[in-house]
Order: sequence, then C-alpha cells, then structure tokens
Amino acid sequence: VGDSADYDSEVESICPFCGVGCQISLKVKDNKVKYVEGINGPANEGRLCVKGRFGFDYIHHDHRLTKPLIRRDDAPAKGLNVDPGNWGEVFREASWEEALDFAAKGLKGRGREVAGFGSAKCANEEAYLFQKLIRQGFGHNNVDHCTRLCHASSVAALMENVGSGAVTATFNEIGNADVAIVIGANPVENHPVAATYFKQFTKRGGKLIVMDPRGVGLRRFASHMLQFRPGTDVSMLNAIMHVIVEEGLYDAQYIAAYTENWEAEKAHLEDFSPEKMAPICGIEADVLRDVARTFAGANAAMIFWGMGVSQHIHGTDNSRCLISLALMTGQIGRPGAGLHPLRGQNNVQGASDAGLIPMFLPDYQPVGDDGMRSAFTEVWGSGDFSAEKGLTVTEIMDAVHDGDIKAMYVLGENPAMSDPDVDHARDALAKLDHLVVQDIFLTETANYADVILPASAFAEKSGTVTNTNRQVQMGRPAVTPPGEAREDWWIEVELAKRLGLDWSYESPADVFAEMKLNMKSFDNITWDRLARENAVTYPSLSADDPGQAIVFGDGFPRPEGRAKFTPAAIVAPDDVPDADYPMILTTGRQLEHWHTGSMTRRSKVLDGLEPEANCSLHPSTLRRLGVAPGEHVRLSTKRGSIEIMAREDRAVAPDMVFLPFAYVEAAANILTNPAVDPYGKIPEFKFSAVRVEAAKEA
Ligand code: SF4
Repeated sequence: VGDSADYDSEVESICPFCGVGCQISLKVKDNKVKYVEGINGPANEGRLCVKGRFGFDYIHHDHRLTKPLIRRDDAPAKGLNVDPGNWGEVFREASWEEALDFAAKGLKGRGREVAGFGSAKCANEEAYLFQKLIRQGFGHNNVDHCTRLCHASSVAALMENVGSGAVTATFNEIGNADVAIVIGANPVENHPVAATYFKQFTKRGGKLIVMDPRGVGLRRFASHMLQFRPGTDVSMLNAIMHVIVEEGLYDAQYIAAYTENWEAEKAHLEDFSPEKMAPICGIEADVLRDVARTFAGANAAMIFWGMGVSQHIHGTDNSRCLISLALMTGQIGRPGAGLHPLRGQNNVQGASDAGLIPMFLPDYQPVGDDGMRSAFTEVWGSGDFSAEKGLTVTEIMDAVHDGDIKAMYVLGENPAMSDPDVDHARDALAKLDHLVVQDIFLTETANYADVILPASAFAEKSGTVTNTNRQVQMGRPAVTPPGEAREDWWIEVELAKRLGLDWSYESPADVFAEMKLNMKSFDNITWDRLARENAVTYPSLSADDPGQAIVFGDGFPRPEGRAKFTPAAIVAPDDVPDADYPMILTTGRQLEHWHTGSMTRRSKVLDGLEPEANCSLHPSTLRRLGVAPGEHVRLSTKRGSIEIMAREDRAVAPDMVFLPFAYVEAAANILTNPAVDPYGKIPEFKFSAVRVEAAKEA
C-alpha cells in the first residue's frame, strides 16, 4: 500500500475472484495496476482477502495473449502439449479479420453440431450476448457454464420449492441472526470476507452450527461442529427435522400460511429418528437433538451452504432438506432469516440470471415457454430457437465423444481442467472439428483450439457483475488490454456479425439496456444508476431503493404464493469405497488459488504462498502409509491416478483425502467421478472412492 504519489489514477471496480463481490480501488501507474485497496461496497465495507488484495498481477503476466492465434497446418496432433509462453510450433499469429472469419466459418450453418460454454468470470452483458449468440445463431439451447459444476443442484431445489434460484437474504443479514448453520462450505478459504461477518456474529454471541466432513476453518468459532460422514447430509438433516416435528418445535402458523406439502414431509420424516440416523451420519443422537432445538429455538436463523452440499448425485436432495428446515421453522423473509447458497465465481449469479444455461432464458424463464421465447425473438428481431432444453456441460462433452457435437465456442471456461473425469473431456476436445477459444491466457482448453481470440481481464473492461447477495455492481476499466487483446463483448459482436446476425451494440451499456427489456429483475436498475451508485441489489422497488436485502416476507413466486416441502430420501454416493479403492476423495479450493489456477498461479504473491500441488491427509493415515508430511503419495481412482505432495491435516478424517483442483501438474479431475445429480446435472466432485499409497520416490 502506498500513497497518491505512487499512482497516476485510481479506478473503482469489483474483485474478479469469488462471489462475495468485494469493491476495490485499482491504483494505476503507467498503464499498470500497482496495488489494490478495498472500498466501501455493500458486501465488503472496505475488507479484502489475500486474493483480492494481492492477486491482481496476473493481468500483466508475460503469458497474456496479445494477438489472435490460428492452429498451424503442420501443428502436432491436438493434445495437452502447448507451452503457454512458447506456442510457436502449434499456433501462428493472425489478424483479427482473419481469425474472426476463420472462427465464424467453422461454426456457421452447423446448427446442432455446435455448442457453447460461456463464463461466470465475464460480465452480465457478455454472458447475455453469449447465450444469445448460441440461441439466435444456431437455433438451440446447447449453452452452459460452470454453474453446472458448482450450484446447479442448489438452484434446481430453490426453483422447485421457493420459486427463485437466488439467495433469500444477503450474507450480511447474519448480523441480525442469533443462530446460523454453515454446511458444506469453507468460507474462511472460499468466501473469506463473508467469513469475517460470520466470525463477528459469533463474537457478539450468535450460535454458529458448522456441518462439514472436514473440520473447516470456522470450527474455532462454532457452538456446534458436526463433522459428519461424507455423503450423509440427507440422513443428518432429516434427523434434525425429525426432532423438530417430534417435539412440536415447528412454526405451525408459518407453515399454514406460506407452504404446501407439509403433511407429506412430516410423514416422511417419521422414519428418520436421530437414533436410527446417528450410525449413518456419524453424529451422536444427542447432538442432533441439541442442534434441532437450537435452530428451532432461534428468533432469527440463516442457513448458508456451499459445494459440499451441491456437488453430489443427491445435491438437489441436500438442498431440499435445507429449504424444508428453513420453511418448517419459518426462517425466511425476515431480518436475520433466510437461505443463502454461497455462490462461487464472481459472476456465477449474474451469468445464470442472464440465461447462460441450457434450460432457462434470462431471468430463469423456461425455454419451453412459448410466450417468453417469442418475447426474446421479438427483441432480437430474428432467430427462432428450440423449445427443447439444451445439453449441460457434461452432456455436451459426451455428445462430442459420440460425434453429435463437432464444433464449440468456449469463452473463459477451462473444461480441460474443470470437468470431472477430465481425460474424457480432453479426449472430447481433441475430437472437435473446430474449437474457438476466447480467453486471456492459453489455457489447457486452448491447447486444443483451432483459433484463439485474445480477450480482456476484468481491469481492462466495463461491465456489470452480480454477487452472491444479488447485488449488481459496476466493473470499470483501469488499464488498456495488452497488444491487440479486445473486450469480450466486442469479440462476441464481431463473431455474431460474421455468423449473419444483425448486432449493432456500441457498448456494454447498449447490451444492458436490451437485457432490461425482458429481465424484470433489473427493474429500476439502469447503467447510469450503477455508474453513479456502484451497486444496486435486485429486486429494487424504485429508482432510489438500494434494493431488497431480504425477499419473500409476504409469500413466494410460486402457485398461491406458497413454498413447497419436497421430502428427500437417502441416496448413496455413486462411487462407494471397496477393497481396491477404500478411502474417500473430496476436492475443493484453497485460499490462495482460484479454480483451475489460470489466474492465481500467475500471481507472484499467491503462487509464492502456495506453489506446489498438494493434498491433505490425517496424521494417522500418513503414519499408516509410512509417508512423512511433504513427501509424495499416489492417489488412484477408477478413472486414473496422480502423484502429489501430502500434507498432514487433522481436519481431514482418517478415511478421507482432500485434494485442491487448481494444479495442472496433478489435476484433481483426472480422478473425479462424472456421475451427476439427476435434477441439477452436477457431477459428484465431493465423493470418489480412492486408493492412497506412498509414491515410489517418497
Ligand atoms: Fe475477492 Fe472474494 Fe476475497 Fe472479496 S472475499 S477480496 S471478492 S476473493
């Protein structure tokens, strides 16, 4: 941190990493970001974590793509074989004209042979344009993004039972709660600034119930720490709700006024006594009873969850249980009460809202709704598109394998690292006739590209982003892009024109204005207002309403205004441990690294703090294996194997391995299971049977 003599200009924008959406001030000198400070945004009040404060230098990294690239005619066979700093044997530089013409030629007229992955890292306007390009340009809905790998099952359950996929209350509302559950989430590492509010809540006497198979960082602040067996969420949550029913602790008045299907839920829960569920979930019956009484006895209580809940083949059922728990206790729609799935990427909420998903148009209008499809084609001026739901991320990769999809446009996603059973995804990418990749670095996915379009980092472009709190915030350019790199919206528009679409946007503000025509969630939110105020929460009820932090106090956007109880049965994980693969693998993030590592591993401070691929094992497991902390282990599943440095971590149960997924040299997703939840279509990243052995060199 310096003073004003150290910089020429300062620009307010939004941190590009997690869904907390901290507002930042970028201090710029000589077209370089010198440092970053937190400013007074609604989600951070000046606070930043290590990523937001020190993780910006990747934008000036030598590996930035500065010119369009086209695969050479004599390039080696497609594979993960390109050095991102030295790509000359595989790609050649091209002009924008040539690259865009080439990109469009390989896509044009191919209808259902084309699919697109957009990005939760891009702005709302860019996400909107991307889904429009696929729908209007190719007539179908084969467009998705990484929500499919993170909270799709939470959204499926929320849409089904509450009628809306977003949070019912901001995380800051924990300040008005007296009890909170945090389940399947590790905010200290993954939503660090939100975690500061959770810690403050406990300092003033709030009871924090932490539920996680790992002893995550918040355990030190917890009134109750339930380290349950992986994959047994439904048995544990149903047991807690059983007690609430058995002891008459539910809110009968709220249930009668605002819900449906209560009798079915109540009958279903009869079978889930704590005594019966304790041996399954590994939490003692007395503890389950105490948690039930604590939560049901709260004046105001919130439930937060993360991907530990959603990334299971029963992820939707897990979320259904959390929704039922809040409904039966009347803990929605009041200060300090609500449901809050902690969204991962900085703009995964906004990209989903903008329709970057195969089953919904912007604002979650079903693609099968004839009226809404007509409303969009009317605004778009042309281009009927199918009423049939499109394929999801993993389904698209399967369709590529089967030869049904032959060309893809990938903007800012990295399926060659992020997909489950990633060798399957890499094989699929290699099979494509034509792959267009738009990114800021030559990612693992770009290794397989036919043409690469150099894009802009967050600090080089304008655009709005929407955080986990439903706060729509303004991102602003602080520096110019390197070389010939261009803003993503500009690239999308130029590509669309070459696909024959009549697009004439001149700025992201034009796109935002079009989005508002069919997105009621943006009512009373304008580009100019965001430019003035930096953030407005949706829904906003008037031009001077900062937005509603809490929703559904007077009913739900469902038939008769009622939320629904959907009973959840126990479903075993797909890949159950056996004699060959006796332990449980779970994957996740670390504080210093973000997702597939393309940005944070190019940040000096962050990569300096956490430079080597690692996994975490309990001390007793390391002793049994004869491996010292810092030595290497071999992890093997039915899909493949990797060697990786082992760390000692008492927070991990003796039969578990925790494996971060940011490291290409030991890619976690070589091991993970592609089986998906039937509703959210999200893979079971949180549970694979694994064998752990000492590596030969250990
Ligand atoms: Fe950025 Fe999230 Fe950290 Fe805030 S908490 S600084 S949004 S990574």
